[in-house]
Amino acid sequence: MEKFSKRTERKAYWLFKQGKVKKELETDKRIHFSLKSEDKEHFVIFDKKKNEFTCDCYYFSLHQKNCSHILASKMWLKEQKDK
Ligand SMILES: [Zn+2]
Repeated sequence: MEKFSKRTERKAYWLFKQGKVKKELETDKRIHFSLKSEDKEHFVIFDKKKNEFTCDCYYFSLHQKNCSHILASKMWLKEQKDK
């Protein structure tokens, strides 16, 4: 499991708990999510084959690290599995 900063974790948990994570589309290869943050909407794509998440936000493109949107999507996926 990767390490997330506390701030990223808190924000991701908030997004998840507020129901901001929405699954837009699922194909054999990918799952597309949309996340409405305070002012912007971000799109997260989960590549099933590579088992990799990507996000269109500035943080992700800058650091190539998991952002709060990706983490929130992971929480959402985990909940689906646990149901
Ligand atoms: Zn992001």
